[in-house]
Amino acid sequence: MKKRQFKTESKRVLDLMINSIYTNREIFLRELISNASDAIDKLYYVSLTDKKLKIDKDKFSIRIDVDKDKRTITVSDNGCGMTEEELENNLGTIAESGSLHFKEENKEQSDVNIIGQFGVGFYSAFMVGSKVRVETKSYKEDKAFVWESKGIDGYTISNSDRKENGTSITIYLKEDTDDDNYSDLLTEYKIRSIVKKYSDYIRYPIVMEVENSRKKEDSDEYETYKELTTINSMIPLWKKDKKKIKEDEYNNFYSDQFFDYSNPLKVLHFNMEGNVNYTALLFIPSHAPYNFYTKEYEKGLKLYTNGVLIMDKCSDLLPDYYSFVRGVIDTEDLPLNISRETLQDDKNLKLIAKSIEAKIKKELTSLLEEDREKYEEFYKAFGMQLKFGIYNDYGMHKDKLMDLIMFYSSNDKKLTTFKEYCSRMKEDQKDIYYACGETIDKIDLLPQVSSVKDKYEVLYLTEYVDEFTLKTIGEYEGKKFVNVSSEKMDLLSDDEKKEIEEINNDNKEMLEFMKKSLDDAVINVKFTNKLKDHPVCLTSEGDISVEMEKVINAMPTDDKITAKTVLEINKNHKIYDKLRKLYNDDKEELKKYTKVIYYEARLIEGLPIDNPTEMSNLMCDIMANK
Ligand code: ADP
Repeated sequence: MKKRQFKTESKRVLDLMINSIYTNREIFLRELISNASDAIDKLYYVSLTDKKLKIDKDKFSIRIDVDKDKRTITVSDNGCGMTEEELENNLGTIAESGSLHFKEENKEQSDVNIIGQFGVGFYSAFMVGSKVRVETKSYKEDKAFVWESKGIDGYTISNSDRKENGTSITIYLKEDTDDDNYSDLLTEYKIRSIVKKYSDYIRYPIVMEVENSRKKEDSDEYETYKELTTINSMIPLWKKDKKKIKEDEYNNFYSDQFFDYSNPLKVLHFNMEGNVNYTALLFIPSHAPYNFYTKEYEKGLKLYTNGVLIMDKCSDLLPDYYSFVRGVIDTEDLPLNISRETLQDDKNLKLIAKSIEAKIKKELTSLLEEDREKYEEFYKAFGMQLKFGIYNDYGMHKDKLMDLIMFYSSNDKKLTTFKEYCSRMKEDQKDIYYACGETIDKIDLLPQVSSVKDKYEVLYLTEYVDEFTLKTIGEYEGKKFVNVSSEKMDLLSDDEKKEIEEINNDNKEMLEFMKKSLDDAVINVKFTNKLKDHPVCLTSEGDISVEMEKVINAMPTDDKITAKTVLEINKNHKIYDKLRKLYNDDKEELKKYTKVIYYEARLIEGLPIDNPTEMSNLMCDIMANK
């Protein structure tokens, strides 16, 4: 017998399970049944290509045995089983995907969330058991093994004389306490109701010895007898009549299959008939999985053909921008023994993918139109993904997605679509205005924004992808997107333009002097009449805005860029006269003022200041001289 230690991360999961505050402990059975069903699937799949394997698929089943005296529950399957190495790898370490949960970033999540977010899997047996015994024989070899563990302290592996391939998992139930009644799980009624609730659709029969009674022959008396009975309906949920499915069933199925214990936001259950035939049961989650916006997240739908699971995550069925969709596709239009390589190029698979994409788009559009609150919840979780979708692939998909995205609007102080924005545009308004910043509040305070928003609606862009998204879209219904901080922002009347041009001309030398004193950090210093009461602002010329400069420079590459910035000073502010006076009387002092003004403008934009000490010294100098 070999004694082993669990890997560190497994210990943490085990610890979570054993001391779980998770109330929904009955799901352990669902997890074991689900593993058993997967194991049978695997064996079945192998047998399709490996003709040497003599498998009678009609004999596939999952069996549950309850022993009241020993206080054990055993779940057995005649699936693929495990070799010693597989036992070690599968039950000694938690699955790779699960281990990610324990990265630092998720530390603040509660236990329940952690349990809820990934397949609690095999270890959930320890939520109800003080000891777990796994007896298994792989179809690949004649050796069989027993794995045993009482929890944290490790596990042992020893030989077994099991002959049939498959796995039996026996749970030795914990003792009942005042708070927890485990003995309940030993009743037929309880087991049946758990199976019904979570595992009814499992495609293989789940059998159990059930007590029946019958009339004795030649007598009026009854006798009880035991009989193996199938306790699940075996019809996959997606094959059932939609009208007969309760919301709960969808929710249970979803959490079982996709390890998300929050109910989905939307369920799409449909049959497609035509060029290609398939049944789909798709879910839009209500929140982004913990790793959604990371490389670790894998998109894809479960793909069944003729009821056999061909692929657990078929990524070709979903475009990246809809990668959040989870679900199952079942079709008869793909060959059973299709390989992953040929699958990619399969004409029917492409047709199915196209049709699914259209369906998702349609559903999202109607959610947006008919249930705004729900759509906003969706958008909060996955809006970013849609925006990525717009600017990825050189904007190839923008037309499909641009009506699904929203931005905060200065007008109604909530999210708005481009369509809605355009429908409210003033007659004299040519462009769609937007401003960028870290938060809504900060944008609202920007000098450039306050001068525009009283008259026109402004979209507030707070995510780093936002401006890139608009640049990719380019135009919406023939209207350009204009950053209120760019030189393209032009709301002045001809007279006003003329007036400010003259002022700038008259002060040409002085402005040039100011620009020089900033060591050409800006491409221009000029007076403006665009700002209401604010003294200064920083705007940009050309294609790169200040916000884009921030985003690109925050990326871990060496390619740094600088926006071409212009320091604009309000000619209606008192500072105007002061600057002019200094230019005549004290040019050294003007240099200091210019620097301070420039630093202020950078601060307002949320840009860093290279030399804060200099700024502080300059300000104090100026105050002391006053
Ligand atoms: P998951 O099922 O999410 O991978 P589990 O912790 O439930 O995680 O199981 C870990 C692994 O152990 C499975 O991926 C599978 O390879 C193996 N396993 C579990 N139960 C069985 C079983 N009944 N038959 C064969 N292999 C199993």
